[in-house]
Amino acid sequence: MSWENNVRKVEPYVAGEQPKQKDIIKLNTNECPYPPAPGVAKKAKEMMCESLRLYPDMNAEKLVNALAEYYKVKPAQIFVGVGSDDVLAMAFMTFFNGKEPILFPDITYSFYDVWAELHRIPYKVCPLDEEFKIRKEDYFVPNGGIVIPNPNAPTGVFESVEVMEEIIRANRDVVVIIDEAYVDFGGESVLPLIDKYDNLLVVQTFSKSRAMAGIRIGFAIGNEKLISYLQDVKFSFNSYTMNLPTIEMGTEAVTDDTYFKEITGKIIATRERVKDEMANLGFSFTDSKANFLFATHERVPAQEIFQALKENGIYVRYWNKPRINNRLRITIGTDEQMDKMLAFLKNYLKERN
Ligand code: PMP
Repeated sequence: MSWENNVRKVEPYVAGEQPKQKDIIKLNTNECPYPPAPGVAKKAKEMMCESLRLYPDMNAEKLVNALAEYYKVKPAQIFVGVGSDDVLAMAFMTFFNGKEPILFPDITYSFYDVWAELHRIPYKVCPLDEEFKIRKEDYFVPNGGIVIPNPNAPTGVFESVEVMEEIIRANRDVVVIIDEAYVDFGGESVLPLIDKYDNLLVVQTFSKSRAMAGIRIGFAIGNEKLISYLQDVKFSFNSYTMNLPTIEMGTEAVTDDTYFKEITGKIIATRERVKDEMANLGFSFTDSKANFLFATHERVPAQEIFQALKENGIYVRYWNKPRINNRLRITIGTDEQMDKMLAFLKNYLKERN
């Protein structure tokens, strides 16, 4: 008998690399290439050390109120957390306690199965079709809950709100979580459905479209009862998760809608341009509605391109996993960064012939 018999053994989530060198082009973890809204930097400068002496408001009321105003919901319909990873982990813990397996796609955000294992939640994956689209019928079976990212990651594929609604409607007796981490890049949110379906929880993040991955803010919006159950679990775990500067700076980001629209618009325009240019080099794609492309080349294996890019200081993401092992996930950077990547690829593919 060893103490190790009583250890909770899990296989942790593997995030994209965060290289230390400064002179690389980093297109591997779906960060925003632009800075956060100007008000955020101003607020950061204003924040005096004195304010750090006190505990933060554990309800993060200022941020919750700003989000409520922006999304036109009641503050009691919002739950905030330390990145959407924190919010999703809390939601798994709170809502997925049944005996039936929870359902999510086979190709999806690779944290879902990690949380399921951690919290000992039974789960079943539903294979996407050949075009990486959800087969909605897979979700019309008895289950303990559902989590679907829309747009999906790492495919970028967006499913219509109508299909999402069918899935939510068919599963009124379990909680359906729609993870909208990438919805601001051309998708459409299911948020208007929260008053119609009390089993719908929508999760979003400041990490991508609000350029604040480093500060860690995520939030969930849903029926008041769902939110109050989430709060109960959160306050039984750790009350002060969101720190005071984060609450202040997050509030600044939500209130600058003009800047938000400007940077998301720029990323969408860059994505579409880069897609056209890469298509000329022999790449094809899913119709990504996210801040990344999911690309494959007609001739050259993805793993080889991944290595070649990396050796030249351009980091993208590659998974050696079934069905996606000939794909690259390329985060959309600035036009300048993308032009450097395109120039490299053009040259590399020509020389390789
Ligand atoms: N959901 C999906 C689908 C993601 O790709 C990510 C980013 N890794 C997250 C949630 C979590 O992002 P964050 O914790 O930075 O909000």
